[in-house]
Amino acid sequence: MQIQFFGGAQTVTGSQHLVTVNGTKILLECGLFQGRRKEAYERNLNFEHDPQEIDVMLLSHAHIDHSGNIPNLYKNGYRKSIFATLATADLCQIMLRDSAYLNERDVEWVNKVRAAKHQEPIEPLYTIDDAEQALRLFVGVHYHRPIEVAPGITATFREAGHILGSTGILLEVKEEGRTIRFGFSGDIGRRSVPILRDPEPFKDLDVLVMESTYGDRHHNSSEDCDQELADIVTQVSKRGGKLIIPAFAVGRTQLLIYKLHLLQEQNRIPRIPIFVDSPMACNATDVFRAHPENFDRETYQHFLNDKADPFTPEGFACIRRVEASKKLNALTDPHIIIAASGMMEGGRVLHHVRNNIKDPRTMILFVGFAAPHTLARRLMDGDKRVKIFGEGYAVKCETRIMPYFSAHADQGGLLDYVDALDRDRLKNMFLVHGEVEQATALKEAIRKKGFETVHIPALGETFSI
Ligand SMILES: [Zn+2]
Repeated sequence: MQIQFFGGAQTVTGSQHLVTVNGTKILLECGLFQGRRKEAYERNLNFEHDPQEIDVMLLSHAHIDHSGNIPNLYKNGYRKSIFATLATADLCQIMLRDSAYLNERDVEWVNKVRAAKHQEPIEPLYTIDDAEQALRLFVGVHYHRPIEVAPGITATFREAGHILGSTGILLEVKEEGRTIRFGFSGDIGRRSVPILRDPEPFKDLDVLVMESTYGDRHHNSSEDCDQELADIVTQVSKRGGKLIIPAFAVGRTQLLIYKLHLLQEQNRIPRIPIFVDSPMACNATDVFRAHPENFDRETYQHFLNDKADPFTPEGFACIRRVEASKKLNALTDPHIIIAASGMMEGGRVLHHVRNNIKDPRTMILFVGFAAPHTLARRLMDGDKRVKIFGEGYAVKCETRIMPYFSAHADQGGLLDYVDALDRDRLKNMFLVHGEVEQATALKEAIRKKGFETVHIPALGETFSI
């Protein structure tokens, strides 16, 4: 057995790992690398392996850094199956089309600039047509049902508790008379997060490939954060302001809606209107509604037993049309707007922030990670003057950060995950999907627990197992 790391190696984006066993090539993930525009474009465009030689692809969850280059895999000749849970397949329907649309628009703009400089036009990474064809390769699977994905190779998808439909994947491979148990963690969620079931760690493995995004971090407990969110909503409502929450359309937004609904039910927040202003977030919320089989027991107890919809709090509206989005500007009573994008690099949230940034009654609440140099990061860092659509604005509104909503386990959660493993059996552990600093901190902590061989593979590195 051989494993090669083609992405998500010493970084958090572009996950892509190739397992070769008995001549069969299994691709785990095919994510989009995100970074500086030109470098990202080049890296995503060209595969370091031949997609036509892949025998099967397995996808742990729908996030774009794991799934976003699948249409390009199709474009480069891949025509075999892509196994993923039903919810992941449904979320990819929305996300890959949206990603293709953004790619096409982006290249249109780049080509206008190139034309002005008399340069050759470039092609989009992939088109909506590529995405639609690629989506036909998806085969929806259920949790916990072993499925033969290639001769002598069985895959079982287990709960990862990270986003709806997310999984860790167990591969059982017969090779030279022995069975190798190979675990791929996907992205590991936090325990006791609303909506989702807790992650299920593996027990007996020979090899584990594990994420390490927050390998050096410790999160706050969820009860503190519920109170903080309740206080924020109450405070902004009392002063007659708007609460603007830039959020990723898939996962974070639904978690927020659910939390606000629960706080309403517990009479801990005033009943002010809640708007989700993003067609993609609205569509993703529909996918959540369509997959109650993936919810945890608490969600059933709080809502579903009473036939209530967890994602429709009182005063809630999903805004799809641009005209309806513009009308939100005219609202003077307190309300909450959740809109993409989370890092404020585009999307409708920019309009809401621009229109309210000078109003001290407004609060912008950050609930996720923001990369350096993004508008969200500048505001999080407390910049007093920022540029929006090329114009300068003084920041008079309040800004707050609530990191609780992270979909990733912290160091304690990741250590719990490896703690369940049989130390004598596990021969190799590979830490992926984390910057070197985070992965190294986690490696040290794991070694203290008695695991000897922990690697942090470099991009393109190959290991024989
Ligand atoms: Zn993820």
